[in-house]
Amino acid sequence: MPTDRYTIAEISLQKIRKSLFLQDFTRKIPGLAASVIMTLALSGSAHADSAVTDDVYAEPEITVRTSDELKDTRYSAETVQKHRGIKILLDPGHDHVQPGVLSSEHATGEYVFNVNLAVKLQQELNRRGYTADLTHTLNETCPLTNRTTKINGHRIFVSLHHDSVQEFDCEWTSKKTCRTDSASGYSVLLSNENPMLRKTYILAYATASYLKDRGFSPNYYHHTVEKVPLVTDILPVYDKQNLYVLRNSSVPAVLVETAVITNPADEKKALDEGFQKKFTEALADGIDAYFELFPENRSGDGLKEK
Ligand SMILES: [Zn+2]
Repeated sequence: MPTDRYTIAEISLQKIRKSLFLQDFTRKIPGLAASVIMTLALSGSAHADSAVTDDVYAEPEITVRTSDELKDTRYSAETVQKHRGIKILLDPGHDHVQPGVLSSEHATGEYVFNVNLAVKLQQELNRRGYTADLTHTLNETCPLTNRTTKINGHRIFVSLHHDSVQEFDCEWTSKKTCRTDSASGYSVLLSNENPMLRKTYILAYATASYLKDRGFSPNYYHHTVEKVPLVTDILPVYDKQNLYVLRNSSVPAVLVETAVITNPADEKKALDEGFQKKFTEALADGIDAYFELFPENRSGDGLKEK
């Protein structure tokens, strides 16, 4: 847990939030009332204020299984059958017209990394029985406004990106690319304006948990330097409210920043096929965990959430 990034007050706020969630839950079970009172007393939240009212960011019940535990079931006939009919829309960030940031050493546009990873994730998901589609491929342009309109019976929207840093942290190379080691690692972004925020959070939590468990290092740069709010104190999950595709998606939507390609070490990893395989496998494991929680209502997910 990145305790250095949180004040004591913020941490206790998280605890209060959890205890209020428990209170709401136990209201339906009168026998547990005493334990609720104990919980509230122990968390010191006698004067919990109005800012702490929702349970949107309560910790979901995601069990993170090791790669070994999953090795016999990922592609089994039973798994494939279970995922049959579930459509997923993958969105490689940027396109050849607006390529995103250039990588540090190879001066390659971010969208090339994104499309490559999206195709690998598509293959990985299809092997598990899902139907994964892409908003666009390498040679197609795709303005932001066209991306979420491609949601057509898809249950979730996953945008894939590679990260960069602020210009003031860059050292400029002769190729006019940014080179820096001021940030590295992965993060997951959501928008609190997504109409299905609870499910969006669970999807973000599941994918970020699996990436963390598989050894990918979390990137807290956007919080420490850019002050983007984190929505959990144990994972690099950010609320980037204004991101167009996330707030305009009618289904649960997350944006994954894979690695920081303005960092030469991360760029090297991002180009490595072993890294890509492990990363897409971890993402797919997280997506599997999400659909274990929401196996039913195969269509119409975009229409109902309380
Ligand atoms: Zn990007």
